Amino acid sequence: MSTTDAHTIDPDDLRRRLGALAGNLAYGWRHEMRTPFVLLDEPAFDRAGHSPRAMLAKIGDETLRKAGSSPQFQEALERAERALRAESGSGGGWWKAPEEEDGTDMLVAYFSTEFGVDESLPIYSGGLGVLAGDHLKASSELGLPLVGVGLLYKHGYFRQAIDDFGAQQERYPINNPADMPLSLMTDASGLPLLIEVELAGEPVRARVWRARVGRVRLYLLDSDVEGNSAWGRRVTDSLYGGDREQRIRQEILLGIGGVRALRALGLNPTVWHMNEGHAAFMQFERVRELRSTGISFDDAIARLRSSTVFTTHTPVPAGNEVFDPELVRRYLGGFVERAGVQFEQLEQYGHSESWGFGMTPFALRTAGFANGVSKLHGEVSREMWGQVIDSSDGQAASIGHVTNGVHARTFISQELSELLGRAGVKAGAHPDEQGWEKVREVDDAELWAVRRSRKERLLETGVRRYLRQPGARADNWKFDPDVLTIGFARRFATYKRAGLLFSDPERLARIIGDADRPVQILLAGKAHPADTGGKDLIQQVVHYSRDPRSQGRIAFLEDYEIVLARRLVQGVDVWLNTPRRPMEASGTSGMKASQNGGLNVSILDGWWAEGYTPDTGFKIGGDWVDSNDAVQDQADAEALFRVLEDEVIPTYYDRDADGLPRRWIAMMKETIATHGRQFDASRMVEEYTRNYYLPAHRGSLAKPIVASGVTEA
Ligand SMILES: *Cc1c(COP(=O)(O)O)cnc(C)c1O
Repeated sequence: MSTTDAHTIDPDDLRRRLGALAGNLAYGWRHEMRTPFVLLDEPAFDRAGHSPRAMLAKIGDETLRKAGSSPQFQEALERAERALRAESGSGGGWWKAPEEEDGTDMLVAYFSTEFGVDESLPIYSGGLGVLAGDHLKASSELGLPLVGVGLLYKHGYFRQAIDDFGAQQERYPINNPADMPLSLMTDASGLPLLIEVELAGEPVRARVWRARVGRVRLYLLDSDVEGNSAWGRRVTDSLYGGDREQRIRQEILLGIGGVRALRALGLNPTVWHMNEGHAAFMQFERVRELRSTGISFDDAIARLRSSTVFTTHTPVPAGNEVFDPELVRRYLGGFVERAGVQFEQLEQYGHSESWGFGMTPFALRTAGFANGVSKLHGEVSREMWGQVIDSSDGQAASIGHVTNGVHARTFISQELSELLGRAGVKAGAHPDEQGWEKVREVDDAELWAVRRSRKERLLETGVRRYLRQPGARADNWKFDPDVLTIGFARRFATYKRAGLLFSDPERLARIIGDADRPVQILLAGKAHPADTGGKDLIQQVVHYSRDPRSQGRIAFLEDYEIVLARRLVQGVDVWLNTPRRPMEASGTSGMKASQNGGLNVSILDGWWAEGYTPDTGFKIGGDWVDSNDAVQDQADAEALFRVLEDEVIPTYYDRDADGLPRRWIAMMKETIATHGRQFDASRMVEEYTRNYYLPAHRGSLAKPIVASGVTEA
């Protein structure tokens, strides 16, 4: 229960207190909560992949006894516990429940196929997952009543290594639930809670894990349970792996199983948010629930619409999944018919101009609220899905937009956040009190010193990662913290055009090798295992980095994930982004760089089409699009080299008598002052709440749906 005497904490007691810290992912953004683990044994914490749970499972009583008698450790532990209470306690947030006549509280269920909350819960592949994680974190900050629903993948997404030939290799380590911040949900008799879905006639069961993200709960379904067939156990094997059957199985488990899990937990959301079309099978289960209470099919659809929000995240085909209608029939035909609905009746909601059952059209026609993830992406989506919307007799949702945001406290370095804090900036505070503009009062030299120190830290991490590659040699690493450093890290999807920078190798070599004003470049990113184009691009980049022309100033760092993302956005001077407009729906890594004072150099696509001003960063080219990709690529490459040579490099190296680049520093401040709030995840979640969640909540109250089947208004 408590300490044995005033000066020591016994190991069992300490284990319990550390266990409580390890059980809330707030340790991902509250460094105080990580400090006790670092103080206990930093190398062990690193070896455990920064998972406090994994570290605790291995730590011996002797280490705990020693720590328990150290006043310094006890103080750190108490600070950590105060931080946990602040992040998980109730009250104080921005959210105030509206006074509704019948007193039903709002609850938002947020379904997503991936969540990137922290490196200790590796069930994400990239931007979509990290955004979902940030949505949960901001909801916690705002005090919004929201639960997340997803899948617990046994192998997560693959880990990347670069081989002798510069090619990507994929490994799939096993995620052990005991090493992750998860608790198994149990039923009334204390046994693991199991939910069941039918997949092509075969019942498959899943257990339900809960992760705590500050105040918010995230429920994850896992089909690796005894009693399931061999393939049934593998439904939650890995993220974005397997064939079409595996994908439909996963998406049925997420959608239908997710609704069932919430009901089994006694949760009755009033708002249902489908984060990308992968989650849209939830609507099948909700139609079934409604039909079982005697409501007609048309009324059931109307009720779904009034309470559902759908976010589309990309114009790229991989995000707009299409299934063979026969596959959908084989998996869900019986289910639909037992619900008293003709299969064709529901299936036609997934039709579009092209063949197949499209998850995006289906989601658009069964949600009353829909949005893209930046202003430009809203326009692109309206155009792209115009036919679906027009052919729905005004029934399908019109598509608006909520520009993405990032969770500042996860991505801003501790050093910078302390400096900003002294000036009065409070990331994570109540939205009206964050005061980002106070960065303008920070001393230039101090801001510059923090920047240099973060760059040094990045280069320390960078060289260690670099040397993991079999073909990498220490004398081939010539990085220097005083040199202008460009970062480029993202998935190696072809539309992101990592090759643009390498399209004129000689010109690039002249830029990086300049005697007075050199440049160095760090790259990272994974290509989907089936994307040969993306994998080739990685190999080309690695080859160039090993070529004498790169002069030891270009390096590809393997296995891009949240830890490396944080280091990069905190340490680079320039964040480069070269997507083929308008394919980058939003992009979020540039926002993370911005909040850290990194300057973006980017195509005017996604968020940058909104964020760019001449005082906050640099643009590549204009806003036109050529129908011929090759022409566009060539023009953009020329514009990229031109902006680097004529604007970026001269501004960075323009120093005053104190050796400070005043104009550059002024731009750093301007980007933090304006983008800090504009692209913060709490601004994003506030907008979702005002524009979508509250109207959907009211819509659901007008037509209440509850698990017991009592449905009349
Ligand atoms: C932020 C982030 C992304 C998304 O970056 P984009 O710029 O949207 O491509 C991907 N991966 C990781 C690990 C991230 O932290």
